[in-house]
Amino acid sequence: MAEIQLTFPDGTKKAFEQATSLLDVAKSISTSLAKKAIAGKFNGELVDLQQPILEDGAIEIITKDDKATDLMAIWNTAAFVLAATLDRAYPEMQFGEVHATEDGFFYDTENEAGQVAVTDLPDIKKAMSKLIQAGGAIERVSLDKAAAKALFAGQTYKLALLDETETDQVLVYKLGDFADFGLAPMLAKVSDVKVFELLSVAGAYWQGKSSNKMLQRIYGTAYNKQADLDADLQRRQEAKERDHRVIGNQLDLFFVDPKVGAGLPYWLPNGATIRRSIERYIIDKEVANGYEHVYTPILANLDLYKQSGHWDHYREDMFPPMDMGDGEMLELRPMNCPSHIQVYKHQPRSYRELPIRLAELGMMHRYEKSGALSGLQRVREMTLNDGHTFVRPDQIQDEFKSILKLMIEVYSDFNINDYTFRLSYRDPANTEKYYADDEMWNKAQTMLKGAMDDLGLDYVEAEGEAAFYGPKLDVQTKTAMGNEETLSTIQLDFMLPERFELQYVGEDGEMHRPVMIHRGLVSTMERFTAYLTEIYKGAFPTWLAPTQAVIIPVKNELHYDYAKNVKDAMIKHGLRVRIDDRNEKMGYKIREAQTSKIPYTLVVGDQEVADATVSVRKYGEESANEEASDMFVDAIVAEVGNYSRD
Ligand code: ATP
Ligand code: ZN
Repeated sequence: MAEIQLTFPDGTKKAFEQATSLLDVAKSISTSLAKKAIAGKFNGELVDLQQPILEDGAIEIITKDDKATDLMAIWNTAAFVLAATLDRAYPEMQFGEVHATEDGFFYDTENEAGQVAVTDLPDIKKAMSKLIQAGGAIERVSLDKAAAKALFAGQTYKLALLDETETDQVLVYKLGDFADFGLAPMLAKVSDVKVFELLSVAGAYWQGKSSNKMLQRIYGTAYNKQADLDADLQRRQEAKERDHRVIGNQLDLFFVDPKVGAGLPYWLPNGATIRRSIERYIIDKEVANGYEHVYTPILANLDLYKQSGHWDHYREDMFPPMDMGDGEMLELRPMNCPSHIQVYKHQPRSYRELPIRLAELGMMHRYEKSGALSGLQRVREMTLNDGHTFVRPDQIQDEFKSILKLMIEVYSDFNINDYTFRLSYRDPANTEKYYADDEMWNKAQTMLKGAMDDLGLDYVEAEGEAAFYGPKLDVQTKTAMGNEETLSTIQLDFMLPERFELQYVGEDGEMHRPVMIHRGLVSTMERFTAYLTEIYKGAFPTWLAPTQAVIIPVKNELHYDYAKNVKDAMIKHGLRVRIDDRNEKMGYKIREAQTSKIPYTLVVGDQEVADATVSVRKYGEESANEEASDMFVDAIVAEVGNYSRD
């Protein structure tokens, strides 16, 4: 039999028979290693222990003592055990897609007789544990498609998935009578799933399409060690506590009612106050940095979006046009760029005026898929902190850098530190999405990369993430639930100036074409508020907090007037403050101010009235400090003015 050369992690090479499995390799080293082994790697890729190795390459054996970095195999196996358990408990059950995700696994199921509910999870978990304790080797067989189809007869979704597989050979795993596929790599024995948890059940459309049937998606996770599972569950709990939808509800920030309109949020007074504070901040900041703010209509003749290319390249994200009955078609704008282009074109422009920086808190509408909508984070009506700068070609790099500088300044005012840069390029093969002009794309992509390198900033490059008209720099952050999202973006555009025949008079007296830079510093008001809610866990810094201070008189009849004086002094400075004069116990009022995450709670009683002081308790602190009331007012005014966070 032919031999193959396998290279071990320490560099040593050893010859083995062709088609040796990593389990055999482990056995050849020591029985204890073979016992501990749970999976392996071949040329860096995770593989089953049972997989026959056919060619030379580098191998690694993963044992249960290894750090939990190679959890895919554990998650796949746990998902398999879940399905095997469900198959016994619900013989009619249909199985759909199964996936190991970034932090666990899910399995889609359908059971006509009665769907799985969250309340069933504890029993399912018990049955899974029994199956795991019973042990049993997982058998790995390679079948051709026809044989696989025969094996999965009656499983509608599995058959559809088999139809989609491109290769003729399908890797099938078996445990007793139960068989499954699509879970590679797997552990060798079910008992290698040491600790696991079933997390939740949620509806999920078959293959993500809302026109398809809704299946039940069961989520779970698994680890080698109890401590890792505990840490994961705790992280999930914290994420839930940070979820802006949960906090938004607790603090009365906003609501969405799908019956009235999915993805169309209502901002309640508290949320609206936060939003107004952000809007005022960003407008002031932009005006100070040479931007001119405008207001432009959210509706325009459809021809505008035909000319801009949105109708050809962005239609699936747009609301259908409104037929006005007299031949006119009106469209809700999905982006503000064509509007700002109209402002640029409204008068002749000269090279001396450039860069021209137009900005707007521009409302736009996008028909996002219903499954993608999430609180304020992804909506269908949104207001973007938008800006377009029109520059001469020789000004591109400087303008790009100054936008980036401004953005970093803004991030620091909001105390945002956890973000990464992503340069988003086109996918040259996707000619339907991307405007075809190789020279333009290469030039623009090289220019962005050059500017980032000049600034010495780290970034990742992502193909296929560009806008249809040009490459961009995206600033990526993570939501509480761990999903990556784009917060800010700077995009180069040579196409729209061309399509709208934009011009300026150059130094030479001739007409020239400007370049457009689209930029959003703090994203949409919706997504930014969602993001801030999560990073602050609802404890907004004083300058953003809906109520900045609450004053509690110890006895209304004795101390209300003094409380009113303090309140008036604060209101004069534009601070948001109220007196809590309800007939409730003081302890109750203080606790409520804390759960409402109000930055300052001021208690005033005899002592305070006599000394002209306030007893100040900061949010999150146990004890209170006596401060002269005028000094307190000065300090809070300064704090708000500096956007400071403590
Ligand atoms: P995404 O990939 O997140 O859908 P995009 O690349 O389509 O965004 P742009 O056209 O660049 O988005 O829009 C500017 C910014 O508006 C995005 O960076 C994002 O922060 C925000 N945004 C986009 N779509 C939504 C939405 N549906 N809800 C809330 N904010 C959004
Ligand atoms: Zn734009």
